[in-house]
Amino acid sequence: MAGDVVPFVCKHCGSETFKTSSEPKTYEDFLGATCAQCGAVVTDEDIKAQAVKIAEALLNDAFKDFR
Ligand SMILES: [Zn+2]
Repeated sequence: MAGDVVPFVCKHCGSETFKTSSEPKTYEDFLGATCAQCGAVVTDEDIKAQAVKIAEALLNDAFKDFR
């Protein structure tokens, strides 16, 4: 796992900028954060859906490297 920046995309507008109470380091830190662009609030379900998507992308990348 590289880097400590966790990519998170707003499901409403696609923005990657969120207002959080502290610097987010894990997906859980995005819970209750609001999108800087459209103001949508991040819910528990959003975080789970996003985590699954990113885990799949990481797996695909890993398999590419091993070929
Ligand atoms: Zn948004």
